[in-house]
Amino acid sequence: MNDIPFLPFTRPSIDERTIAEVSEVLRSGWLTTGPKCQALEAALSKRFDGRPVRLVNSGTASLELALRLCDIGPGDEVITTPMSWVATANVVLAVGATPVFVDADAATRNIDLDRIEAAITPRTRALLPVDLAGLPVDRDRLNRLAAAHGLRVVEDAAQSFGAQWGGRPIGSFGDLVSFSFHANKNMTFGEGGCLVMNDEAEARRFELLRLQGVQRLPGGGMEVEAWGAKANMTDIAAAIGLGQLRSIDDFNLRRRQLARRYFERWDRSLGFELPPEDTELHGNWHMFQPLLPRAFAAARPDFVAGMKALGFGVGVHYPAMHLFSMFRAMGHARGDFPVAEDIGERTVTLPLFPAMTDADVDRVCAAVTTVMADLQEARP
Ligand SMILES: *Cc1c(COP(=O)(O)O)cnc(C)c1O
Repeated sequence: MNDIPFLPFTRPSIDERTIAEVSEVLRSGWLTTGPKCQALEAALSKRFDGRPVRLVNSGTASLELALRLCDIGPGDEVITTPMSWVATANVVLAVGATPVFVDADAATRNIDLDRIEAAITPRTRALLPVDLAGLPVDRDRLNRLAAAHGLRVVEDAAQSFGAQWGGRPIGSFGDLVSFSFHANKNMTFGEGGCLVMNDEAEARRFELLRLQGVQRLPGGGMEVEAWGAKANMTDIAAAIGLGQLRSIDDFNLRRRQLARRYFERWDRSLGFELPPEDTELHGNWHMFQPLLPRAFAAARPDFVAGMKALGFGVGVHYPAMHLFSMFRAMGHARGDFPVAEDIGERTVTLPLFPAMTDADVDRVCAAVTTVMADLQEARP
């Protein structure tokens, strides 16, 4: 038992060929944005049906600059979900606009599309949905809603690289689509992000936004007409990205098999609420997140500790965002978004990453059963 290594909830897979290619970049004398970034942008664009793609140094930067690309700022409202990583709302605040939360849907745990219309005001400028755990938001309904109200859509697809909607890859259609390549994401460069855009004119504006607004003039001069961030990606990261791109479809396939194994091996009598089985929607299984039985919501720290003691990492993604003190200070309170609150109190992220074996899943399932029996026994 003691010689079985700790199983974290996620771990990146980087192959030796990629490590060698990163070494080549390090020896090349060109470390920052260069040929590797260009090659990766071209490769990503090809995946996304020829749509322009530009890399940045994080998914957060990609989202923030997407909002700036839409000229969203003070006085504007952006509709999003409280069930996400806080970056999703932070970027709205970063541009001076107001995040307007809409509760999650209990089945998908994504933004409740039935509640969006009621949240639209004359100030609403964009929808910012999140594909939680890589399960895509219904793109048909989303894009219909946006079109009917003249809204931009910034898809926070940070978690859904490789997922599909209606047989088409997320990113290959729609308005603006943002991905993250943070170390925990299905495809990672350590840190990184990219935005998929509609046309070259947008892509050109995005290039200015990501690097100081600087336009290079013929003859070596430069000009700055407007502010730009410092968010360009390095060729070191892009070399990792080119390596990851070779494997991402295999990674996601493996994640899918492991998720299926969880459904097969899970003890349903424990009373957890499992995520949607996703046989038609084609998510990328970024995370496997059962919800604890309601009676054990308050015991989540004990569950996490119990799993850890048995050698398994468990994450919490995420507490409902509007209950963070920053958002409470803006007027939010418990009860505002009861579905997101319920998910946020009970969600646990179990180990799921491509290098896991089927036996690992079986061990996690057995550990969950053991820990729940212990918790049951400890109840007053
Ligand atoms: C990871 C993530 C982000 C931010 O991406 P970074 O690369 O960490 O900046 C934004 N939204 C969601 C839903 C994420 O999971």
